[in-house]
Amino acid sequence: MSNVSNNLIVQKDWKQSFANTVQDSQTLADILQIKLDTSQKFSNFPLKVPMNFVKKMQKGNPNDPLLLQILPTFAETIQVAGFVNDPLQEQSANPTKGIIHKYQSRVLLPITGACMVNCRYCFRQHFDYHENLPSQDDWQTMIDYIVKHADVNEVILSGGDPLSLSDRRLFDILQKLENLPQIKTIRLHTRVPMVIPERLSIELIERLASSRCQVVIVIHANHPNEIDEESCFYLQRAKNMGITLLNQTVLLKNINNHADILAKLNEKLWQAGVLPYYLHVLDKVAGASHFYIDDDEAVNIYWQLLAKCSGYLVPKLVREMPDKPFKTPIDLY
Ligand SMILES: *Cc1c(COP(=O)(O)O)cnc(C)c1O
Ligand code: SF4
Repeated sequence: MSNVSNNLIVQKDWKQSFANTVQDSQTLADILQIKLDTSQKFSNFPLKVPMNFVKKMQKGNPNDPLLLQILPTFAETIQVAGFVNDPLQEQSANPTKGIIHKYQSRVLLPITGACMVNCRYCFRQHFDYHENLPSQDDWQTMIDYIVKHADVNEVILSGGDPLSLSDRRLFDILQKLENLPQIKTIRLHTRVPMVIPERLSIELIERLASSRCQVVIVIHANHPNEIDEESCFYLQRAKNMGITLLNQTVLLKNINNHADILAKLNEKLWQAGVLPYYLHVLDKVAGASHFYIDDDEAVNIYWQLLAKCSGYLVPKLVREMPDKPFKTPIDLY
């Protein structure tokens, strides 16, 4: 099914791309040829977006669906009842530093606080990473915890974004986990393939593909414009080398709250070798209320999506509940 010509894509050095990031609104406005209110600083969560992602935005369009995901706005400063700093209460599912254990068979390790892009709706934007990032010494405690919980068979590397780490750090962590016989699957949750796809380098994919464990990469794309030819190339290659690729999307007002947009996203994901996994309703995090759509609208969009797409291309519509040991399906009736 590969329909991207491999020789079209020049192998890029992802470390250079990592450095090529826009971090202030005025620069972004100039590149995109739009007018922005750059006089105000809106929050402590700064603008950060790789040039690679900026290139996928439409010039002259202040409502570009990719721009809206990363641009700090005045709306963030408005306090809305019910929108809080830690909507998932992850701090309380934190048995030992460096581990979030809410679901029986899998643990989530926030191995870095760094992301390559700052998404305005992110539920981890107020998360206290300094409290939770494991030091070398903490790793032994974490390993002990996993060994003591014999029903844990999957480890999810998350963050932040695990692919913002160097190969050296990442490979070291993989090795530690592969040394535990109980671990069958290693999963990475990452948005990097949408913003710096060349991070899926041949070295990285070869390392993952040769793991003793099953390796799953769950990417995070919200809009079809995020998947250009380049992202498609790197994802297809990873898939062809044996990595299972899934996608999660957050339903966002003015960005993807239409069945047609989600269907188009599905089509592009499928072309790239990625299966839709979850469609999340927004976690009610402080500063993100302007992205929120209510359950009735979500369900309405979902019914339309069901009618448009092959069954295997319809993600599960879910909500994260602080006290539930799984992602909770939204009631469709
Ligand atoms: C989402 C999540 C997982 C993974 O859940 P799956 O349904 O297996 O994708 C694991 N741990 C935590 C804390 C999560 O939020
Ligand atoms: S954790 Fe994911 S959603 Fe949140 S800012 Fe980082 S890349 Fe964006």
